[in-house]
This record gives sequence, C-alpha cells and structure tokens, in this order.
Amino acid sequence: MNPVNPAPEKPSEYRGRIAPSPTGLLHLGHASTFLTAAEKAREARGTLVLRDNDLDAQRSQSEFYDAMLEDLAWLGIRWQEGPDIGGPFAPYSQSERRDYYRTAWRKLLDGGFIYPCRCSRKDLAQSVSAPQDNDDEPIYPGTCRPSGPVSRDFESPAGINWRFRVPDGEAIEFEDGRLGPQSFVAGTDFGDFLIWNRDDVPAYQLACVVDDAEMRITEVVRGGDLLRSTARQLLLYRALRFKAPAWYHCRVIMDENGYRLAKRHDALSIRALREQGKTPEDLRQMIEAMRPPMYCVQRFPDESAQ
Ligand SMILES: [Zn+2]
Repeated sequence: MNPVNPAPEKPSEYRGRIAPSPTGLLHLGHASTFLTAAEKAREARGTLVLRDNDLDAQRSQSEFYDAMLEDLAWLGIRWQEGPDIGGPFAPYSQSERRDYYRTAWRKLLDGGFIYPCRCSRKDLAQSVSAPQDNDDEPIYPGTCRPSGPVSRDFESPAGINWRFRVPDGEAIEFEDGRLGPQSFVAGTDFGDFLIWNRDDVPAYQLACVVDDAEMRITEVVRGGDLLRSTARQLLLYRALRFKAPAWYHCRVIMDENGYRLAKRHDALSIRALREQGKTPEDLRQMIEAMRPPMYCVQRFPDESAQ
C-alpha cells in the first residue's frame, strides 16, 4: 500500500437527500434546510441525493430547474446522485417515477388503507371548520369514509381523490434529531389525508414516502413546518411496510414580520442575493441572524418544497 496515496475512505451507509421543487427560485429558507442536509451527509461521509420534486406539472418550469441546480452548486452543495448525474436509483425526477407511486397506490388499496373521496373543494370548504394551526390540509370531516371494506375494483387512481384512513386516537410517535420526542394524535392533530388527487397526480405525502424509501434514504432533513407531515408519512411507511428513516427537522426561517419565507419573497431568493454581490458565507450569516425561537416551529403550514 502506498502511504502517499491512501485509498479513499469507503463511504458510510448514510443516505441523505435534498428535494427542491422547480416551481420558483430557491430562497434563504431552502438554503438553510439544504445546507443543513448537505452538512449532515458530509459529516457522516455519506451520500447526498438530489431529487427533483416536479410533480406539479403546471407550476414546474425548466428554467427554475436550471436555476435550482446552479444556485445549489453556488452555495457549495455537492450531491452524488441526481437527475443531472444519474445514479443507482434513477430516475431522480418525480415526474418520471409515476410507476412507483401507482404500485404504492395499489398496495394501499389492496391493504384496505385508502378510500375514494368524491368531495369537491367547495364541499370541503363548507363542511370543515377552521384548519388547526395553519396546517395546509384541514382535518377531513369523514364524509366519504366508508363503514365497510372498499372495493378493490379500480384499474387506476385517476379521476377521483384518494384518502388514507388514519387510526383515530392513535398517537404517532417519533424521535426528531433536533427537537427530541414528538407525538401527534391521528384524527385529532391531522385527519384522513390525500394520497392521490383527482387530476391523477400523487399527493406530496405519498410521493415523498415512496421516493425516500425506494432511494434508501436513511435520514430525512427538512423544514420544521413538516413535523405533522412526518406523522402522516409514518402511517404510510407502516402501511407500505417500508423501513422509516431517521428525522431531523430544521428551524423555520421567517422574515422580519414573522412570516415563513415563501416563493413570493423574491428579494430573499438566492439568485437575487447573489446578484447583489453576496457570497455563500454572507447567506449563511443571514440565515443565522434570521433563526426564530423554537416555539415558532409548529405554527406554519407544510411546504412540499422542503
Ligand atoms: Zn369526501
């Protein structure tokens, strides 16, 4: 063995991921989460996967995809698998992974975990009381929840909404790498949630679980506004008999008025800051300065981009 040129250390089993959506420019909130994810993968000498969350065909744009890759690279984030470089779990764009989601839908239907929901948006708006917190998905009132078994006689999920029937009253518990033990009660903290939309697009919860499981992700690092989604997703992991990853929910970044950053905060996009002459190090310092107190963590809605 040549001591001057030691063999590179074998990568560990750790597999992390970053999963941005090409529906707008990435902003400081994304930078914060993705830098944390990249750092954890690097510290663990593991693999970082880049996944393109482009299921929203109407809002996904190739120019945002290009900007996303460029901005991530500019931040100093390096990934070892992704839509631009391939890898053993390709494809890495969700729009090309529909077969996996369909297989999962079939498994959930055969297992009796889901049911078709014919409620319109209008029905839901009328029947649902104000959503708890600012959660994106109000608690479903159970209008279409069947009392008996659901027919398995569906060729495809298209044309109708599909919901996961949650075990009412069960506490869904998990350990968060930053926040410690977490617990959410099914039916109280969240209700029967969508796994497939009538326009034939799998819902975020299902696509995310299927991809993280199929891509053998060992730790999911994402925004603290997704804690409740993690509880929902754990039910999907169990129903699909997938091994759940470890979880690490980052602090949510907010603007000076206490609003969670969204794509409307164009002035805080990585691109705009870069064009003003800011460096990646400047952005890190801005992120540090913007970190809110911990108690804000659960007050903001889910965002699929993180
Ligand atoms: Zn319904």
